[in-house]
Amino acid sequence: MFDCQPWTLVIAASGTAVGMFFVWLLHRERKRHAAAVAEVRRLAFHDALTDVPNRLLFMDRASIAFAHARRSGTNVAVLFLDLDRFKTVNDTFGHNVGDEVLRGIATRLRDHLREGDTVARIGGDEFALLMPGIHNADNLVKIASKLNEVVRLPLRVGNHEIFVSASVGMSVYPEDGRDAESLLRNSDSAMYVAKERGGDSFQIYSPSMERDARKAQELETRLRVAVARQEFVLHYQPRIDMETRRLVSFEALVRWNDPDRGVVMPADFIHAAEVSGLIVPIGHWVLRTACRQAASWHSDGCRDLFVSVNLSPRQFHRQDLVPAIREALEAAGLDPQYLELEIDESCVMMNAEGSMPILEDLKAIGVRVLISHFGSGYSSLKYLRRFPIDGLKLERSFISGDVDDRSLARAALGMAKALHIKVIGEGVETQEAADFLRAQSCDDMQGYLVSAPVPPEECHRFLTLLRPGDGDGKTAKGPSL
Ligand code: C2E
Ligand code: MG
Repeated sequence: MFDCQPWTLVIAASGTAVGMFFVWLLHRERKRHAAAVAEVRRLAFHDALTDVPNRLLFMDRASIAFAHARRSGTNVAVLFLDLDRFKTVNDTFGHNVGDEVLRGIATRLRDHLREGDTVARIGGDEFALLMPGIHNADNLVKIASKLNEVVRLPLRVGNHEIFVSASVGMSVYPEDGRDAESLLRNSDSAMYVAKERGGDSFQIYSPSMERDARKAQELETRLRVAVARQEFVLHYQPRIDMETRRLVSFEALVRWNDPDRGVVMPADFIHAAEVSGLIVPIGHWVLRTACRQAASWHSDGCRDLFVSVNLSPRQFHRQDLVPAIREALEAAGLDPQYLELEIDESCVMMNAEGSMPILEDLKAIGVRVLISHFGSGYSSLKYLRRFPIDGLKLERSFISGDVDDRSLARAALGMAKALHIKVIGEGVETQEAADFLRAQSCDDMQGYLVSAPVPPEECHRFLTLLRPGDGDGKTAKGPSL
């Protein structure tokens, strides 16, 4: 028989307790380890800022969804969503607010998805969405416009109410690609098309986009060479005072002398220049050349002649806009008051509050500011009154159009007159249009009726013809206007 002394029982019992303790310890460590492994896995597959899946998990889920779709003969939509002008949010409100905006958008997108869909953050302000079981294009359109709507809702971060929008591109498995990489790439190309349209919209991928993208790439390469070789020239279109018929200004309009294709008009390259950023060196060249030309006219005796230069949205929003203008004026020795800058209504009104300090900076240099294509749809009376501007160029279609357009022109002119802002009629082609504008007390006009844009060597005929009192001291014998 065993010798069961009490002390042996104590040892046995404490041995069991220690054993149990070790088992518990082991169990706890295992749990901790499992939790740590799960956390490591989560970190590896999720975005640290927004906690939605990252690119790695997105790709993994995409290949599972495609395999399933292959077996069941269904479709999977891959969406690429990029926030518009997100840099402005960061620059204006700081990175902490920017981070909150990204978190807010990620949460909204996640809340908006169906079970089985995935939203992932795959770059700074880029999200990818995976949506199995898409039936047709109508489905896609509804989803994308809903996404645009969801992103557009104001976001409250601290004391700020922030408005963002998104550009969305979409492609579908298996029609537009057979693997996640190519579908994401195609959705990205489609997203760019939506972005180029101004953002806050969506685009479904089509194979012709690749052709268009290739063409755009070729154009950009040729433009880059053109900038290096300085293949641009300026033509000038006269603008005259409706009352006195005096020449008031020349608008500088750029042309590209392509050695292969001849003269290329702005409609065929300004957009590409804007998208690629090449508008910046082109714009600097235009400014310098136009200022030099105006200074030369001044030194020929046309002392009160203005020169107008068009500014693109990208130029308008650049930090170095004011130094670039100053530099062009100084290099030419032109008094700033003779330089007019034409900025599109859509460009200033898109972010009216943000435009205000830029316009004020321009006024501080002493140059004149004209809002062009006035009436094309964006103007707000409130801002028109507050903007420090010197004139409005009426949208051309108002003048060339039908009775309704004329009523709009009349209303726009009345409004500008009430605010004591000078109005210029653009695109005046007929005597009848000129008479209409004169009857509405429009100040200046410009258009084919006076002259199409001409190269600088042809400008002298306007300098002499349209300046009453110049030369022989008699009234000008210009066209009967
Ligand atoms: P815009 O500033 O509205 O210039 C007026 C355009 O209308 C010019 O076309 C001009 O030739 C044309 N035009 C003038 N009178 C008439 C008319 O009576 N009837 C018709 N149908 N058209 C008339 P262009 O030179 O082809 O320039 C087109 C646009 O390209 C300009 O529109 C402007 O937005 C842009 N652009 C031209 N040069 C520059 C530049 O140096 N910089 C920038 N950023 N944009 C420029
Ligand atoms: Mg213009």
